[in-house]
Amino acid sequence: MGDCIFCKIVDKEIPSNVVYEDDRILCFHDLEPKAPVHVLIIPKKHIASMDDVAEEDQDLLGYLMTKVKDIAAQLGLENGYRLVNNCGEDGVQTVQHLHFHLLGKRKLTWPPG
Ligand code: AMP
Ligand code: ZN
Repeated sequence: MGDCIFCKIVDKEIPSNVVYEDDRILCFHDLEPKAPVHVLIIPKKHIASMDDVAEEDQDLLGYLMTKVKDIAAQLGLENGYRLVNNCGEDGVQTVQHLHFHLLGKRKLTWPPG
């Protein structure tokens, strides 16, 4: 998608610190980590947000969810972690390409701000 920063990361037009990659998903370190481990897991397909998920994305997103535990294990998050999606204005979504934050290696507070 033309101006999407995460599509550019998928296409390697913008560098990223890749943690995991296959034909459908990409995981890379967040530029401004909010925890000792903070990575983003994204579908390579451009989907703007959770609000834009379509019926046809079921397999892709189901697949992504099955990979979370493997990525968490790869990053040493055996003590637990948090998976977060920010959607829309109230969710304070800043990048309009669906992504899940995977945070860990510290005791996270609840509720989020
Ligand atoms: P959100 O507020 O949920 O849309 O989160 C977007 C996240 O993308 C933020 O945590 C940013 O730090 C992160 N981010 C923005 N640009 C980049 C980039 N080029 N590489 C890695 N992470 C980025
Ligand atoms: Zn995109």
